[in-house]
Amino acid sequence: MHLDEEKKTPELPASDESAPVLPLMRVDIMTLFPDTMRALLGESILGRAAVKDIIEINCIQIRDFTENKQGQVDDYSYGGGWGCVMMAQPLKSCLDFVKDCAPGRKTRVIYMSPQGQTLTQAKARELRENYDHLILVCGHYEGVDERFIEACVDEEISIGDFVVTGGEIPAMALTDCVCRMIPGVLSDEECYTGESHWDGLLEYPQYTRPETWEGRSVPPILLSGHHANVAKWRRKQAIIRTRQRRPDMYEKLEFTTKAEKKLLAEIEQELAESQTDTKGDTET
Ligand code: SAH
Repeated sequence: MHLDEEKKTPELPASDESAPVLPLMRVDIMTLFPDTMRALLGESILGRAAVKDIIEINCIQIRDFTENKQGQVDDYSYGGGWGCVMMAQPLKSCLDFVKDCAPGRKTRVIYMSPQGQTLTQAKARELRENYDHLILVCGHYEGVDERFIEACVDEEISIGDFVVTGGEIPAMALTDCVCRMIPGVLSDEECYTGESHWDGLLEYPQYTRPETWEGRSVPPILLSGHHANVAKWRRKQAIIRTRQRRPDMYEKLEFTTKAEKKLLAEIEQELAESQTDTKGDTET
């Protein structure tokens, strides 16, 4: 072998088994309305992340998996009553197909249901940390045959104590919440770690241009350029907001450092003073 030929031998990169496999999160949504969902999930931040192959979101038509000619996916409810129930067979066939498309992934099958555990930021973080493949099943009509849930579903997740007509909006909320925390989807981790519900607090108020709008001015400290003071003000506002709007969350907060305790004392004093002021106003 000539020396030149030797040089032509391509250098293969050493395989790095610890390198993350793209997409970092795959979400397959089983639905009767895939086009509507694709349109929304393909837009904006999630759409751009999918183009970069950081995440992959697929919407699969359950109706394509029926074994009857009419493409029927639902039938009457045994025992009578209003409305139809989605049949187990098309759901199971669709699920098998989706699972076969993504072998080797850590998969969680979730049925979007008002009877499930309520979605929280903590729940979404748990899913992001433990799985790289979510299969979301969207029910419609009166829901789905209980036997499918028993046999195939790992958990049920609700978006709150109310009922909507289908699992599509709940599935979109869950997909969005999990995917925006996947590294690279937002420009910086800080984009979501500083937000409401990440560490048990609500976020501070935010402002943009102009400095004065309809007679209302931006708090002067935000225009000062003093980063430490701005950070302190924001932290304080976040604590005040949480205390006022969500006493249930406030109760669970733990202030351990000296600086935090000082800040808390300041807040308590300011709130007490403002209460005395208002009392004074009403009395005069
Ligand atoms: N009969 C059911 C509600 C069916 S609503 C019951 O009383 O429990 C139809 C579908 O919408 C459900 O199958 C579910 O997929 C979805 N859905 C409705 N409300 C939801 C919620 N709060 N969270 C998640 N999914 C919901």
